[in-house]
Amino acid sequence: MTRRPLLIAIDGPAGAGKSATARELAVRLGLPYLDTGAMYRAVALLARRAGLGPELDGEGRRAVVGFAERLGVGFRGDPRAQRVILDGEDVTEALRAPEVSQMASVVSAIPEVRREMVRRQRELAARSGGVVEGRDIGTVVFPDATLKVFLTAEPEMRARRRFDELARRGVAASWEDVLEEQRERDRRDSTRPDSPMRPAEGAVIVDTSRLSLSEVVEAVVALLPGPPRTP
Ligand code: C5P
Repeated sequence: MTRRPLLIAIDGPAGAGKSATARELAVRLGLPYLDTGAMYRAVALLARRAGLGPELDGEGRRAVVGFAERLGVGFRGDPRAQRVILDGEDVTEALRAPEVSQMASVVSAIPEVRREMVRRQRELAARSGGVVEGRDIGTVVFPDATLKVFLTAEPEMRARRRFDELARRGVAASWEDVLEEQRERDRRDSTRPDSPMRPAEGAVIVDTSRLSLSEVVEAVVALLPGPPRTP
C-alpha cells in the first residue's frame, strides 16, 4: 500500500498569518513549503514591468496569460528564509510591493492564469506533499489534502500586521491606505467567479486575532491525524 504524502492546505485572506504559520509548520514537520501567492505575484510583476495596470483590455489580458504560461519561477532556500527567483533574478522583495499585491489579485482572477498556476502547483506538491498556502488550495488545488485550514483574523488586526511588515522593510505607507488596499484585494479575491477565496469543505477555521504565531502553529499541529507530534 502506498502512503499518501502529508499535505497541509493553508488558505485565508491577506495578513491572517498564513505565510508565517506555513513556514513554521514546514520546518517543524520537515515538509516542503509552497507559497502559491508568490507565483501570482511573479505574473503580476511581469505585467507591471510590461507597463500594464489593473484595467486590462483584451491585449493586456492575452499578454498576462502569456506571462503565466512562460513563467520561469522557482524557490530557493529553507522555508523561513525562502527566496523567489524569476528568470534567474531574485525578486523576493520586489514581489512584496503594494502595487504588485494589487496587480496579483487582478491577474489571479483570469481563469487561464489560474489554470496554469494550479497545474504547476499540483506538479510541485502532489508527489512530495508539503505545506501549501494560498486562497484556493483546499477548495481547488488539493481538495483531498490531509488537513485543510482557513486562517482568518479581524481586518484591523490583519492590516496592522501588514503595515508593520511594510514598515520593517522600509516601505512608507499609511495604515489607512494599507487597510483600504487590503479591503479591495479581499473583495476581489472573494468575489471573483473562478475559485473565489472561501473556506473549503471540511476546513478548520482558525481565528488568529488573539493568538501568537507559536499558538497558531500548535493549534494546527494538534489537528493533524495520527499520534501527537512534540516540538
Ligand atoms: O498570499 P499573497 O498575498 O501573496 O497572494 C497575492 C494574491 O495572489 C492574492 O491577493 C490573490 O489574489 C492571489 N492568489 C490566488 N490564489 C492563491 C494564492 C494567491 O488567487 N492560491
